[in-house]
Amino acid sequence: DIPIIINACKNNNLDEKFEDTIISNVQIEGPLLKGEFEDGEVIKKVIGRQSEDLLSDIEKANLRGRGGAGFPTSLKWKLAYKQEKTPKYVVCNADEGEPGTFKDRYILHKHCNKVIEGMTIASYIIKASKGFIYLRGEYFYLKEIIEKILKNRKKAGLLGKDILGVDGFDFEIEIRMGAGAYICGEETALIESLEGMRGEPRNRPPYPVDTGFYDKPTIVNNVETFLDINLIFKNGVEFFKTYGTSKSTGTKFFSISGDCQAEGIYELPFGITIEKLIEKVGAENIKAVQIGGAAGRCVKAGDFKNRIAFEAVPTGGSIILFNEDRDMLEVAQNFMDFFVDESCGQCTPCREGNRKLSNGLKLLKEGRCPITYLEELMDLAETIKISSKCGLGQSSPNAFISIIENFKDEILGRLPRGGSDE
Ligand code: NAD
Ligand code: SF4
Repeated sequence: DIPIIINACKNNNLDEKFEDTIISNVQIEGPLLKGEFEDGEVIKKVIGRQSEDLLSDIEKANLRGRGGAGFPTSLKWKLAYKQEKTPKYVVCNADEGEPGTFKDRYILHKHCNKVIEGMTIASYIIKASKGFIYLRGEYFYLKEIIEKILKNRKKAGLLGKDILGVDGFDFEIEIRMGAGAYICGEETALIESLEGMRGEPRNRPPYPVDTGFYDKPTIVNNVETFLDINLIFKNGVEFFKTYGTSKSTGTKFFSISGDCQAEGIYELPFGITIEKLIEKVGAENIKAVQIGGAAGRCVKAGDFKNRIAFEAVPTGGSIILFNEDRDMLEVAQNFMDFFVDESCGQCTPCREGNRKLSNGLKLLKEGRCPITYLEELMDLAETIKISSKCGLGQSSPNAFISIIENFKDEILGRLPRGGSDE
């Protein structure tokens, strides 16, 4: 049990600098972050080791992508390493846009050197010479901070040509700013945006590991994944595996917000129950927890004994708590309106289907949605999931479906009594 408040912040107001949002700067960092860190120390540890050997450590640590999908990092990097096409690219996805997610903002602010070190280790393993940090447009204030760090690292020989004197170990990192589009957090839309195109998802396969930036092998990983790489090689595989479950090793950064005393960013072990998490943040009378942001599922009180882990209830880190005063239809409406705004419009099920679900919620709230139409909307929601091109459409109906299924009492009371013209 290693619950650690990192920073409780009063909100996630993007107009304020992160420091200004902090109300209790507890700074008892989690076990993996504890201790001194000297820039370059982890790169020095991996230099001289073979890529296969390093990949085997990542596999043993069972590191899974922290963006939300939980894909094994060792497998992704192995596929990129084996590619013969060059040049290869390392992309840090810092376009944190999931509603309720603000942990990468913290990590980049406080532990940017470690993230960059993780990216540099990735470049060493897959033999990439160029990296990008794709930074969320709203985190513009972080650009200057990161640029300074990149400059200092270059001066110290930790980036650039022949890193730490190793012949041919060349790696440069460039920051690219997003412009406020949620879809650019989807890896292929992000790559399109990096290439200067409109941010629209590509078909997968092929996956970026073979056909990525300008069709070259590219690994795209979340900020926290690169941080974990650094921590695994700093503290050792066994130490990393001390935490979490066997299928979801390590700890996880959570962005916790909503109806609780201490919203903020927490590092907690994978496998923690929802119940325990609610207790940690001083929340009471919670009837629902949205896990995984707008794209996630809404869990009801009866299921709070479930564990948060890739094999149980997965999340990229967004946890939003709702107390008994909340109208769950309003919650669903809020999420659906978000997807209507953020759909790139490329494919019909997502573009039109999300709009239908959102309109259906309006009818429900007005007491004008008969049960038969609600059943049709539930079918439509499933259709959107299976027929959409990218993760946005494939997950956008999750909140709608789970709220209708889990809060039937609230929904049934809103159905019209006898007939409707809809
Ligand atoms: P995915 O499971 O399709 O892919 C995950 C990663 O594994 C990708 O990098 C992909 O390229 C790679 N991959 C998967 N199969 C592969 C294969 N056969 N060969 C090579 N590589 C392969 O998930 P996704 O659509 O990329 O992402 C969806 C996730 O993103 C969701 O879990 C969602 O929670 C999360 N998300 C996060 C945010 C955020 O702000 N952090 C925002 C929106 C969505
Ligand atoms: Fe665009 Fe939605 Fe289709 Fe994804 S699912 S490509 S966001 S329209």
